[in-house]
Amino acid sequence: MTLIYQSTRDANNQVTASQAILQGLATDGGLFTPVTLPEVNLDFNKLKDASYQEVAKLILSAFLDDFTEAELDHCIQSAYDNKFDTPAIAPLVKLQDHYNLELFHGSTIAFKDMALSILPYLLTTSAKKQGVDNKIVILTATSGDTGKAAMAGFADVPGTEIIVFYPNGGVSKIQELQMTTQVGDNTHVVAIEGNFDDAQTAVKRMFNDEVLRAKLLEQGIQFSSANSMNIGRLVPQVVYYVYAYAQLVHSGAIVAGEPVNFTVPTGNFGNILAAYYASKIGVPVNKLICASNENKVLTDFFTTGTYDKKRTFKVTTSPSMDILVSSNLERLIFHLVGNDAAKTKELMEALVAQGEYSLENADSSILDLFAAGFATEAETAAEIKAVYESSNYVEDPHTAVASAVYQAYRQATGDQTPTVVASTASPYKFPRVAVEAIAGKDSGDDFVAVAELTKLSGVAIPNAVNGLETAPVRHTTVVAADAMQTEVERYLGV
Ligand SMILES: *Cc1c(COP(=O)(O)O)cnc(C)c1O
Repeated sequence: MTLIYQSTRDANNQVTASQAILQGLATDGGLFTPVTLPEVNLDFNKLKDASYQEVAKLILSAFLDDFTEAELDHCIQSAYDNKFDTPAIAPLVKLQDHYNLELFHGSTIAFKDMALSILPYLLTTSAKKQGVDNKIVILTATSGDTGKAAMAGFADVPGTEIIVFYPNGGVSKIQELQMTTQVGDNTHVVAIEGNFDDAQTAVKRMFNDEVLRAKLLEQGIQFSSANSMNIGRLVPQVVYYVYAYAQLVHSGAIVAGEPVNFTVPTGNFGNILAAYYASKIGVPVNKLICASNENKVLTDFFTTGTYDKKRTFKVTTSPSMDILVSSNLERLIFHLVGNDAAKTKELMEALVAQGEYSLENADSSILDLFAAGFATEAETAAEIKAVYESSNYVEDPHTAVASAVYQAYRQATGDQTPTVVASTASPYKFPRVAVEAIAGKDSGDDFVAVAELTKLSGVAIPNAVNGLETAPVRHTTVVAADAMQTEVERYLGV
C-alpha cells in the first residue's frame, strides 16, 4: 500500500510521496502531510550499530514508499558523503547535563544541510518518476542562511539550476561571502536593492506568474521551491532523531525502550515536527520541548492554546528563529484537530484575516507530548557562558536558546529524563555572539571572532569558514527589486 500525503486544507487533495515532493506546496495553500504514519520496525538493539546512511534508508523507505530501493540508495549516498566533515554525519556529544545532537557538520555548518543535501536528489528523482523531464529551477529569497544551504545542495546537480536573491547589505559578512563565493555552474546569486520581504514578494510573484510559467515550459523548464514546507525536507529530518536514540542505546546511556526528551530550538516548526513524527513511528519520547527566543509566539501558543502573531518582531542573536508565523505548525494543527482539513483551513484563514486563532478541543494525547519555553537574549548569552564553563564546549546562540529552555524546564519540573538538545548551528556561524558571551567583549569583526573562538573552544575552524576571506568572489550582480524577473529570464535564456 502506498502512503498517502494529504493537503492540510483539502481532504480530496491526496498525492504520493514523490508527487508531494515535486509539487512542494499544495495548490490549495495547504501542506502535504501523512494522514496515517508508516509502520517502521525500530529494533534499537540492532539500530544501535547502524550507520547514519542505514538509518536514513530505513526511515526514507518507510515515508517515501513510492521510491525504489535503488533510487533511495542513489539519493542517500549522493547526499550523506564527504560533504559532511565527520562520518557520523550527526554526532551526539555528552555535556554535563544533556546531550547535544550536532546537526551542523554539513557544507554550511547549520542544520538546514541535513535536509537540503538530499532534497535536490529527491526532487530530481521525483521528477523522473513522474515522467517530468523539465529542468528544475529553484528560486529562493533568503535572509542569509537558507539560500546558501540550498545552493550547496543543488550545486552541480544535473537537471537543476538555482537562483538565490538576498537583500544587499542585509546579511552578515560571513553570510554574504558564503553566497558570493558559491561554486557550481548552475548557481546564481543576486543581491537586490531592497529588503528580504521585497525579495520574497518578487519570488512569490514569479512562482504564480502564468505567463512566465508558460514561457518556461516551452523551453522545458519549471520552477520548484526548496522551502521547509516541502515534505522532501521534513522526512530526512526524522532520520537524525532515530539515529540519536540509537546512539544513546549504543553508548549504554539508556536501554532500548527507555524514554528521552528532545529539546529543539524552533522557528518554522520543521525540526521539532520531525521529532514528533519520530515519536509517532516508535522512538520512545517523554517530552518534546519547543524552545523559542524572544519571538515567543510558540511558547504562548502551547501555554494558552491561542496563536497570536500580532506582536512586535524582535531581532535577536538567533536570527533563524526570528519568526512570527511558523509555517510547519500547520501540520501539527491538522493532527491536533483530528486530521480535519476543513477545520485547519478555517484556522489558517483566521490567522491571515484576524492575526490569530484559538484551538478548541485539541487532541490532548498530542498536546501533552509538548512542553514549551523561551529564553531572553541575556539568558541565551548566560547559557553559552555556563555551558562553556561546565562542559568546555561552545554552543551557538540557537542551540543555547534550547539549552537554556531545557535548564529552566528541568528546574521547574524536576524531570530527570535523559535529554537531547538539537544543536542547529556551529558557533563558527555566529562567532561574535559566542565570543562576546564568553569573553565579555565584542570582537568587532567576524573573522577576528573566528580566531578568538578557536582559542577558546579548541575546535578547528570548519572548512565552511576557513578560506572564506580569500576565496574568489564569483557572484557580483546587484539589481533593483523590480528587475529580478529580468535576471531570471537572462540566466535561463528565455
Ligand atoms: C532554521 C533554523 C532553526 C529553526 O528550525 P525550524 O525547523 O525552522 O524550526 C534553528 N536554528 C538554526 C540554526 C536554523 O538554521
